[in-house]
Amino acid sequence: MLHATGYNKALSSHSTTSRNFIVHTSSVESSVSTSSRRVSRDGNVSGQFWVDSTCIDCDLCRRMSPSFTRAGDGSVVSKQPSSKEQRIDALQALLSCPTSSIHAEKADKAELKFAQRGLPKLVPGCSHIYHCG
Ligand code: SF4
Repeated sequence: MLHATGYNKALSSHSTTSRNFIVHTSSVESSVSTSSRRVSRDGNVSGQFWVDSTCIDCDLCRRMSPSFTRAGDGSVVSKQPSSKEQRIDALQALLSCPTSSIHAEKADKAELKFAQRGLPKLVPGCSHIYHCG
């Protein structure tokens, strides 16, 4: 199993320029050991993606992917991605989560790099505002 911190370690020192933005995935690495807090939140549906109890309810993942919804004081995976496009959306949310609270099973480095290359991503309905990841 990998989670955002693991992904970012796998992608550390990798940066890419897109649309005049620079994405440094290593900048969101956590240096704090939080393994004891990495338990699944109530409400996650079973499947590859899940949100842990460190979620701070910032709303970012819910704006980036239809797989996430609000439940109580945070996000959960209410619907597992059912297409490649939805899976990439969920992986971009994983890469963007400020607390590395989103986890995914069976994601490989190539898939993560593909998802990363899609960032920054236009906010739906906006012409000049981006999710930066
Ligand atoms: S992006 Fe992370 S911290 Fe923000 S609501 Fe989603 S899981 Fe919680």
